[in-house]
Amino acid sequence: MKVTCLECQNEFQVEPVSNGDTVECPFCGIELEYKGKNPQGEESFEIIEEEK
Ligand SMILES: [Zn+2]
Repeated sequence: MKVTCLECQNEFQVEPVSNGDTVECPFCGIELEYKGKNPQGEESFEIIEEEK
C-alpha cells in the first residue's frame, strides 16, 4: 500500500497493515500509525509522538 508521509510528504510503499499498526518513513524516520480508511475512503495515518 502507498503511504504519504505526514512529516516530509514523500510517498513510499509498505506491506499492507491493519488498524493500529505502525510504519516508519524511510525518508525522515518518523513513525506513523495506521488509522484505517477515512470518510473519503483513503488510507489515513497519524504521527506517533514519542517522548524522549
Ligand atoms: Zn517522512
